[in-house]
Amino acid sequence: MMNNTAKNPFTNPTANPFPAASAAGNCAHSGITGKIHAIESFGLVDGPGVRSVAFLSGCKMRCKFCHNPDTWNSAGEEYTAAELFEKLLRYKSYWRNNGGITVSGGEPLLQQEFVTALFTLAKEQHIHTAVDTAGQPFCEDDVFIEHFEKLTAVTDLFILDLKMMDAQGHKHLTGVDNANILAMARFLSEHGKKLWIRHVLVPGITDNEQDLLEMRRFISSLHTVERVEVLPYHTLGLSKWKELGIPYPLEGVPVPDAEQIKRAEQLLLT
Ligand code: SF4
Repeated sequence: MMNNTAKNPFTNPTANPFPAASAAGNCAHSGITGKIHAIESFGLVDGPGVRSVAFLSGCKMRCKFCHNPDTWNSAGEEYTAAELFEKLLRYKSYWRNNGGITVSGGEPLLQQEFVTALFTLAKEQHIHTAVDTAGQPFCEDDVFIEHFEKLTAVTDLFILDLKMMDAQGHKHLTGVDNANILAMARFLSEHGKKLWIRHVLVPGITDNEQDLLEMRRFISSLHTVERVEVLPYHTLGLSKWKELGIPYPLEGVPVPDAEQIKRAEQLLLT
């Protein structure tokens, strides 16, 4: 239970270190280990078709609307890539013709070498792979890009959350800058990788007309976007904040009504 400021990962992200995935042995495919928060056998919203979804532990963003704050910490069940692949493969009969494997989180790019190893195993069997990411770990230094290119080579689809365009607003909402997140979207577009873009609509916070229009312009500048979705903010994760002893920063903020969702969709999509 986190019940003071020093241990509170929302107010003090440094209280929550995120070690990189470790490598066990020399086998690049099966020996790398990752920390897994949860596994879903029948995911319907995280990529095409029915998906086996692995939620990886750890996230350095602190989105005020986060419905999975229990994934922020890097603690989780440890799997090798081969072990996780074998587990996800058990649900293959659900996938039919167009399903596959998705990694979500938390933030899966914090363990990108592990995801690369997992997806390499999947692509050997021609299984569709998707990463659901908020993009925060992306940076343009050579070491990161070298690893990221290996991941993109075995990833069919990136599902990218864009929280806000305004830099200051983004930092206030999530605790981090967005320049590198936008750079990641451009990188994926330039490398021909398919993108689905998602935007969580929070009344009074992420529904600003100018920001939505700016996001629309940015999305229009990308060449590989297949889908753009407005996700209505919800409070289903509220009990997790309470269990973690972290004050909920959006207390009293209403969920959007149908009219607000329609307006946002018109601004962002049409
Ligand atoms: S990026 Fe996702 S998991 Fe991380 S804080 Fe934001 S909503 Fe939560």
